[in-house]
Amino acid sequence: MSTKHVPYRIYLSEKELPESWYNIRADLPNLSPYLNPATKAPVVPGDMKAIFPMALIEQEMSNERYIEIPEEVRELYRSFRPSPLCRAYNLEKLLDTPARIYYKYEGNNPSGSHKLNTAIPQAYYNYKAGIKRLATETGAGQWGTALAVATQMFGMACTVYMVKVSAMQKPYRKLIMETYGADVHPSPSTYTKAGRDILEKDPDYMGSLGLAISEAVEDAASHEDTNYSLGSVLNHVLLHQTIIGLEARKQLEKIDEYPDIVVACCGGGSNFGGIAFPFLHDKIRDGKKTDILAVEPAACPTLTKGRFAFDYGDVAHFTPIIEMYTLGHNFMPPGIHAGGLRYHGDSALVSRAYHDGLIGARSVHQTDVFEAAIQFAKSELILPAPESAHAIRTAIDEALKCKETGESKCILFCLSGHGNFDMTAYDEYLSGKLVDVEYPDSMLEKGFETLPII
Ligand SMILES: *Cc1c(COP(=O)(O)O)cnc(C)c1O
Repeated sequence: MSTKHVPYRIYLSEKELPESWYNIRADLPNLSPYLNPATKAPVVPGDMKAIFPMALIEQEMSNERYIEIPEEVRELYRSFRPSPLCRAYNLEKLLDTPARIYYKYEGNNPSGSHKLNTAIPQAYYNYKAGIKRLATETGAGQWGTALAVATQMFGMACTVYMVKVSAMQKPYRKLIMETYGADVHPSPSTYTKAGRDILEKDPDYMGSLGLAISEAVEDAASHEDTNYSLGSVLNHVLLHQTIIGLEARKQLEKIDEYPDIVVACCGGGSNFGGIAFPFLHDKIRDGKKTDILAVEPAACPTLTKGRFAFDYGDVAHFTPIIEMYTLGHNFMPPGIHAGGLRYHGDSALVSRAYHDGLIGARSVHQTDVFEAAIQFAKSELILPAPESAHAIRTAIDEALKCKETGESKCILFCLSGHGNFDMTAYDEYLSGKLVDVEYPDSMLEKGFETLPII
């Protein structure tokens, strides 16, 4: 650490925007291949071409360490990137800690989260392949918003299947997507067979992420000009998100810093992989000793209590079978307010790194998460997304440990998005209605019983 004054915000110029994404597949030799859900044989590129363009399938399977970011994508990134790296001086003061805390802020774009970093290249590669429309699902709404923003940049149409209960509870999220030109269908819808079948059985069904995925995949597979797009979990999504960590490493270099601890929340693993993988590269290849921590809700403890096994990515068994930490693909999430962290599984890349002991994981309770969110909002002034506040909780815990030991560690975390549309969750916390939910151990065994036999 140098003694020179570090500013509140550390910026990079447009010229310093990274030219390549980092592909950690090159440095994780023990990865298992995806398996075809029907045959259980390793997936070949042709298996995915009904719903993905070849360029993204190639990225999904590539072992090249660096993959060039197309100039057209870099140009679109420039309207909101490089994103600022912030020194949390006011939070440090509040905690009275000797730790140096930095956060990379990804909420500074119209989607309000890091998800636009992958929505843009996904729309781009589909556009180049002649695709006219993208179909996707959204639960909380951030991903649908990001894809709505990105598709209109290329004059493409966008269809979003939004879990019905979310569409009703969050009318503004739906309106934002519509403002950017997307067609938003509450799911279950009558547009797909998957939706109609469910509605016939239960006209009042309020929807689930698993069903919305099935609707979007069916839509894409049954229309020649339409592809499917996913906002997390897959290798190419995490690849695109590494722009976060690559920028952060450059920004820290400018002030002669290197993190002792890197923290991010983990749903499907995309913002975590995004900020962490460039530092994990340094750990694997250059022997750096960084502690890298993925934070998840106690109500959805995929890494901390799940099993490392092959499992489906969705309820309907449309997706490949992936070796990952999982709670079982029929997992029913207890009611928690971090919608983006409710997935039953985790990225194969994050799962492998955790299984190999390269990263650590923490689970945290939601009242502790909101307490941290409010400490952060009051000191650093940005109202964090409930998902991001999981990372804040753990960063604060690590900073408080430093206070006990007197160590001045450098802590970096990812502030994956703002929480301006999550006021219902804040309302529940502020009015004392928010309770801690822990995933019961009895449910774990039930979930593991649904794992496919490989
Ligand atoms: C979607 C979302 C997440 C969780 O997804 P990951 O793929 O695990 O990053 C976290 N934070 C925000 C703000 C999100 O929108």
